[in-house]
Amino acid sequence: MGVISLWSILDEKDVGQRTNLRDLSGKRLAVDLSIWILELKRANYKLFDSPNFFLKNLFYRVLGFLKNGIQLVFIIDALHVPSLKTAAVRKRLKECHGIEGGIDRSKFQICVNKCIGLFDKLGIPYLTSSGEAESLCAKLNKDGLVDACLTRDGDVFCYGAKHVYRNLQKLSKEYYVDIYTADSIQEKVCLDQRSFVALALLCGCDYNKSGVKSIGHKKALSLLRNFQENKFDPLDRMLGWRSNTELNNLQEVRTNLPKKHPHCLRCHHVGDLTAHDTTGCSSCTTNVGCSVNADTCYCEWHQSERKLADFKDDLTKFKQELDVREKALMDYNFPDKEIIHEFLDDKNEKIPLNKVCSSEPDVTGIVSYMLDKVRMDGVDIMRHLIIALVHIKLFSSPQFWHSLKLEPVSILRESKENFRLCYEVKWKKLEVDTWTKEDYYTIHVERELFKQQYSEMVKEFISSQGKGKQVGFRKRKSTDNITSQTAIDTFFPKKKKQSKKGTKMTY
Ligand SMILES: [Zn+2]
Ligand SMILES: [Zn+2]
Ligand SMILES: [Zn+2]
Repeated sequence: MGVISLWSILDEKDVGQRTNLRDLSGKRLAVDLSIWILELKRANYKLFDSPNFFLKNLFYRVLGFLKNGIQLVFIIDALHVPSLKTAAVRKRLKECHGIEGGIDRSKFQICVNKCIGLFDKLGIPYLTSSGEAESLCAKLNKDGLVDACLTRDGDVFCYGAKHVYRNLQKLSKEYYVDIYTADSIQEKVCLDQRSFVALALLCGCDYNKSGVKSIGHKKALSLLRNFQENKFDPLDRMLGWRSNTELNNLQEVRTNLPKKHPHCLRCHHVGDLTAHDTTGCSSCTTNVGCSVNADTCYCEWHQSERKLADFKDDLTKFKQELDVREKALMDYNFPDKEIIHEFLDDKNEKIPLNKVCSSEPDVTGIVSYMLDKVRMDGVDIMRHLIIALVHIKLFSSPQFWHSLKLEPVSILRESKENFRLCYEVKWKKLEVDTWTKEDYYTIHVERELFKQQYSEMVKEFISSQGKGKQVGFRKRKSTDNITSQTAIDTFFPKKKKQSKKGTKMTY
């Protein structure tokens, strides 16, 4: 998908930087929803038959981002498939859904609508592109409305994206992505947006699957580098290929070398020695015989030879370009202006900032929606949701919240989670939570993050710790025991401890 070989070009030069999602907190990402749906559907394709199971995967994945303080904006493809892309879409529909022939996205739209239902409850914004989702993802990124695009479709660079995250992976309960920035691509591979479009035309992309015959990414890249050395804009240069007199002349010299006729050994004109001896040589203007080492020969072949010598430097300089150009121009439509316009002309309207901002999640709505669509129980949904909610709370400003009252009661103890210093914090149970039986939630949160909003509570905790030591209290050993456990592992402790103050629920 996207520009053929693009990712291998970038990966050969180690452009992508593997990063933990935790290090991306505060960022807002535009996500190409159709790619997520395909990934999530594929993930459970063989295991489960439920048509909605992908929603459960989507729910977990989205919470994984929210928990790390990352905001998402989902971008949806236009229902109408651009005519330029029909071939590619047809292929994808066949591969992923077994739908043959059709290019109607309405079947896919059913899945999209199910996702939208969940986003509405989660308060996550989504936008429909006027064309392909990648084009709007890139626009939001260019306009500074999102920090990056999360997609595996390399076309997003042709649309001008500045930061692209790819290869989302979950390892040891943490999510990772590879980060590609326009700056590092420029630095390591010398490609800018216009070069990416040129690469798409040469190597192929969703809009012209095959690219130029027998031109692979190495030849294409080398040509683009050559353009750069000569300070040519790659697209202007290729658009001008047909009418470029200099290149036409060079090509003519290269291809129109006439046949060399035999030359006389004595005068070096066309003809042979015996014939010149009997009937003379027209070039030497003789009737019998010819001159020894006569003047320059002006036969067709010798004239081309001399021309070739004049062009020798240029032929060497433009050899590569002439080779690619010759093959490319065999396609009468090359370079396809429609593809260039598709990538460079922005068809999406300007998006106001409020359209990409998250809103307060509707807890009852989320749980009801998931209960209705997927076979999950309310407790299971809540136990995942509450961790995300607490983190949204810690990462957002107080103005974000209107109705949900989620407040910490106290810090129970210091803890560690995935080698990060945390506090185990007791949170007041939400009024709307009718699913869990416990009276409050216990959730591990990073110390520094917690301190930003609840510094007083941290101070109190630290001083109480100090007092505890002074009067000889033993520090609870449990701190270290839970170090490597994640929130989910500790959700249902094997032995539930009943305390006087009520039961607790640890995440
Ligand atoms: Zn002769
Ligand atoms: Zn002669
Ligand atoms: Zn000659």
